[in-house]
Amino acid sequence: MTRRNPPPVSLLLLLVLLPLLAVAPTSLAQDFDFFYFVLQWPGSYCDTAKSCCYPTSGKPAADFGIHGLWPNYNDGSYPSNCDPNSPYDASKVRDLLSSMRQKWPTLACPSSDGTQFWTHEWEKHGTCSESVLDQHDYFQAALGLKKQVDVLQILQDAGIQPDGGNYSLKSIVSAISDAIGYTPWIECNKDEAGNSQLYQVYLCVDTSAAKLIQCPVLPRKRCGSEIEFPSF
Ligand code: 5GP
Ligand code: 5GP
Repeated sequence: MTRRNPPPVSLLLLLVLLPLLAVAPTSLAQDFDFFYFVLQWPGSYCDTAKSCCYPTSGKPAADFGIHGLWPNYNDGSYPSNCDPNSPYDASKVRDLLSSMRQKWPTLACPSSDGTQFWTHEWEKHGTCSESVLDQHDYFQAALGLKKQVDVLQILQDAGIQPDGGNYSLKSIVSAISDAIGYTPWIECNKDEAGNSQLYQVYLCVDTSAAKLIQCPVLPRKRCGSEIEFPSF
């Protein structure tokens, strides 16, 4: 009597697993398109009508500080507060805290050690990139980007100094684009007298938070064509 061999177990497994494999990449893939890496000029944060407070560790360096690393979608919208079960936990970034104090200083009032700022940034933005960066990776990635791009040095090399002078927005954008190969976005705010000044620099970064990219979409806020670069 002839008896047909049953299909090998491996073939059966493949038939069961194939449809799962087709679905898995979407559920595992990152759920955002790129990051904005946002730096703030402390002189412009402080010299507004609202003023500022130095962190409890003292006056920060006269340098651009990190504001945040923000997951974003290519259409300009962005996710926020993605995981209420993942609170900021300083013990996870203990080895980074001293760099965070220096490079990611808080200027909000009342004075604090930065915990509130970092908590806000992690909970609002960091939890939305948890598919690629856990809390330690997230803060480490932002610190790495800060080290990778020295915006103040780039501007100074182009003769653009935080001296309270006025500079064309174009010259600021060109200095940074020429140095890093990608166009930054510049956000302004107003000093007490209502003059427009250089407040934040947005750089775009790929989903691994390691490589600068051309911005897929730009924020809406605009500066005037001549802006002040206040001292700090
Ligand atoms: P503002 O309204 O002051 O420009 O922004 C307030 C906050 O909203 C920012 O600090 C940031 O947390 C978030 N935000 C504003 N614009 C963007 C954006 O284009 N992308 C992302 N990811 N967050 C943004
Ligand atoms: P975002 O604008 O990123 O959504 O929110 C920033 C939050 O962090 C605000 O609640 C703001 O008061 C607080 N914060 C604390 N320190 C700083 C700082 O140095 N710069 C900015 N932009 N916000 C800060």
